[in-house]
Amino acid sequence: MNTRFAPSPTGQLHLGHVAAMVYVWGLAARLGATVHVRIEDHDRQRCRPEYTAELRETLDWFGFVPVNGGRWSQQSEHDDRFQSALALLRERNLVYACRCSRKELEPLPDAAERRYPGHCRDLNLPETEGTALRVRLPADSIEFHDARHGRQTQRPSAQCGDPVVRDRLGQWTYQFVVVVDDLHDGIDWVIRGDDLLPSTGRQLLLARLLGRSAPLHYFHHPLIVNPDGTKLSKRDAAAPIAELRGQGLSPAGIIGLAASRCGLLPEPAPRRLDDLADLFGRWTFENLFHQPYRFVY
Ligand code: GLU
Repeated sequence: MNTRFAPSPTGQLHLGHVAAMVYVWGLAARLGATVHVRIEDHDRQRCRPEYTAELRETLDWFGFVPVNGGRWSQQSEHDDRFQSALALLRERNLVYACRCSRKELEPLPDAAERRYPGHCRDLNLPETEGTALRVRLPADSIEFHDARHGRQTQRPSAQCGDPVVRDRLGQWTYQFVVVVDDLHDGIDWVIRGDDLLPSTGRQLLLARLLGRSAPLHYFHHPLIVNPDGTKLSKRDAAAPIAELRGQGLSPAGIIGLAASRCGLLPEPAPRRLDDLADLFGRWTFENLFHQPYRFVY
């Protein structure tokens, strides 16, 4: 199996990132999977070289580095991949220019996101500076299996509409590049936080349009939350890793703290990187991947 850790260098690292690392390296160790590290720095507005440097240094400090033949990579160096994938979608007449602004997106009653209603879908607008590019997604529902959440059905056309692949500033979007890179890197097991579960259906539809035939397996892990239940954010001063390091905590100490905050340990006891597989004793190859469902794809 090939999995990856794909952080975005958009701010200071906090305990939530360490929890994500514990899931990726721990589950991978449990099954002997390969781990790749891909720094998702496609967003030129929000990513900064100093955050990338901090990220690399912190991963090295913990020892969270690629294993079993995995590689480091950096999304900003993959422009040719994204161009080729866009060309493939264009050949199939699936790409269109869009001049809508965020104001034209429809709010949805129960979701944090908004849906694009498709105003520009059939207008055949010229691609000029300031137009975004969207991909015509089929209206299909898509079914997939998540090892923790079980069977999921999503209908991206009702959830978000046609996704943007290149925005008005000419930047690739997360939804597009994550699919292209996972396909290119041979990733077949995605381990990531619950906040990305709603994006999975659209990513699978995009992957299918780009020719993916091998199934992807998912494990969406719980996120660490603040004591009041709100999401831990990069702006949250509660637990930056740099501060914990400054207080003299060791890598094992911080790993143990993150593991306890996300329910993997009853108490924050130091846990060495080499002993992470034990946290996932109940996860076997069978219950992670051999599910009684048909991958509808
Ligand atoms: N880069 C994304 C993030 O930091 C994660 C992408 C993924 O795992 O699919 O939230």
